Amino acid sequence: MADKELPMPSRQKDLYDNWKVYSQIDKLMFRCSKKKADWYLCRNLAALLPEDKAIKLSFVAKGDGHAEGDYMVEDKANICVSCGTSKALTLHHIIPDMYRKWMPEVIKSKSSRDLVVLCKNCHLKYEQQADKYKECFATEYNMPLEGRGWILTPDNSIVRKAASAVVKYRDGKLPLIPLDRIQHLHKVVDDWQIEQEMSGTKDEVLECALQLTDRHKGDDYVDHGQYVVAQLMENAMVIQNNRTRWPDLEEFVKNWRRHFLKYCDCDYLSDKWSVDADIYVE
Ligand SMILES: [Zn+2]
Repeated sequence: MADKELPMPSRQKDLYDNWKVYSQIDKLMFRCSKKKADWYLCRNLAALLPEDKAIKLSFVAKGDGHAEGDYMVEDKANICVSCGTSKALTLHHIIPDMYRKWMPEVIKSKSSRDLVVLCKNCHLKYEQQADKYKECFATEYNMPLEGRGWILTPDNSIVRKAASAVVKYRDGKLPLIPLDRIQHLHKVVDDWQIEQEMSGTKDEVLECALQLTDRHKGDDYVDHGQYVVAQLMENAMVIQNNRTRWPDLEEFVKNWRRHFLKYCDCDYLSDKWSVDADIYVE
């Protein structure tokens, strides 16, 4: 499978630029991309250092950056963390986006720790396991992955198929269709147009009919990821400095990290990357 071409976009350039960002007291705070470094430099928020690919902030940054020796400040290789190849690389979110996007900002903005490099093959291999894991949450929370609250419109498929045949016939791709059949298909589309009180040319109507779907989200539609994250956030506690913590959500994040380590042989993942690493920004 290694040489098989897979239909997934991959990055051509290095995923990690590994620019170093130092604080005013010369502490290595974090790593960033060239784009981010340029952003600081353009705004006079940082100065270029003689060291290769390094800048020093010209303001006192909020927080202290990452601890010395932390995964987030080390040099990262542009290779797949599983097989070590430097070809066909892609960025992989260890916490699937369908959950991550509903998480609070204090967790979401920390997620670069949970963003790793995988090649396309390793990515697809792991995704099969990740899909199975998502099914476990669908069962546990009694909430299908596709969400709940779809409104089925099976009649749409009759109109869409009729429009598709009419278009093919029009374009000479269905020369053998009997005349009475094509007349019937035209009538299906015409009746639908009347029912929808739709104006426009025949081609425009056909184009609309081709877009019809067999279902759509109703007003009470519930997204799987949104629902699961909301449940995980029910147990919230406020700690010092008025910060909120969600123990169940923390465990969920860690479980995804554990799952990734278990099913994706991470021979090339840094030793400093850890399941128990920080989840919150502050
Ligand atoms: Zn790989």
